[in-house]
Amino acid sequence: MSGVLIVAEHDAGKLKRSSLELAGKASALVSELKGDVSALLVGENVAPLASELGKVGVKRVYCSPQGSANALAEAIKQAQPSVVLATASSFGKDLLARTAMRLGVGLATDCTDLTVEAGKLKARRPIFAGKALVDVVPGGVPQMATVRPNSFPPPQAGSGTAEVVTLTVGSEASGTQVKEVKQAEAGVVDLAEADRIVSGGRSLASADNFKIVRELAGVLGASVGASRAAVDAGYISHDHQVGQTGKTVNPSLYIACGISGAIQHLAGMRTAKVVVAINKDAEAPIFQKADYGIVGDLFEILPALTDEFRKVLKE
Ligand SMILES: Cc1cc2nc3c(=O)[nH]c(=O)nc-3n(C[C@H](O)[C@H](O)[C@H](O)COP(=O)(O)OP(=O)(O)OC[C@H]3O[C@@H](n4cnc5c(N)ncnc54)[C@H](O)[C@@H]3O)c2cc1C
Repeated sequence: MSGVLIVAEHDAGKLKRSSLELAGKASALVSELKGDVSALLVGENVAPLASELGKVGVKRVYCSPQGSANALAEAIKQAQPSVVLATASSFGKDLLARTAMRLGVGLATDCTDLTVEAGKLKARRPIFAGKALVDVVPGGVPQMATVRPNSFPPPQAGSGTAEVVTLTVGSEASGTQVKEVKQAEAGVVDLAEADRIVSGGRSLASADNFKIVRELAGVLGASVGASRAAVDAGYISHDHQVGQTGKTVNPSLYIACGISGAIQHLAGMRTAKVVVAINKDAEAPIFQKADYGIVGDLFEILPALTDEFRKVLKE
């Protein structure tokens, strides 16, 4: 067995950035693991996306109308990879867990880095709600891992091409059935994939006041996040919640506005690369995690920051 098989996800006819990141990392890994990069693409009429994957180093794309463990197991049977990777999305985590169980192999979840040591995949992942990082070597062959979005840079597109293989697999007996897929508001990037996030807490005090968070996010091209307290108070919907019982995010920039920094919130954003905290309490725990801290009233600071960024980014 050799090479890396990735599960590529797409949305509205476009490959997700996180899948391109995986393809780029897979190409780097095969220089040490030997073999090629292949991909599983799930859905109807997905073959056109295969050429995009070809341009980022994927040599063979297995297309399946079904996102089932049957489909992934069949792709693994044909590709014989030594490593299988997926994004740590709901879809990727569910699919790899079921397939790993079926194949009787280990699975490293929510990884933030991947390396090769002595011919084996070594995966770095946060533990204890992100308080520590551990390196694990998933057991069995193929080795399996899910990776958080924004862990690696997306690769430059080249001129490669991918062979397309259509899989025919039986449907799986399942206790669940997808009845409907609802699109998020137009233009809103899924928080888990977002490269920049501006989050608001309970201190915003109303749904209407959240507009100052949205304005700053808009100027920065960022997505809007929230603490659970803000969600529970009804200021914003649950799909914006960051934390233990919300989304796990991994952006380059996370701006926490009036968020205290409870451990359950940190659990969801601890791996953000740069954290900026705005809080009127200089002792707020969020400042222990922040790279940059602003002590003051967010109702004054956010509009001022939005104006400044608007000016600077226009220049
Ligand atoms: C099982 C469990 C799961 C949980 N899961 C999550 C989760 O997924 N995500 C999550 O976020 N929480 C979660 N929580 C809740 C968590 O413990 C905190 O209660 C929550 O994060 C607090 O939200 P907050 O920081 O917005 O509010 P608060 O703790 O009330 O903090 C508000 C902060 O705003 C500051 N502030 C007030 N006014 C201003 C102002 N005008 N300008 C600037 N700063 C100001 C205050 O100094 C304070 O630091 C969970 C709790 C439990 C028990």
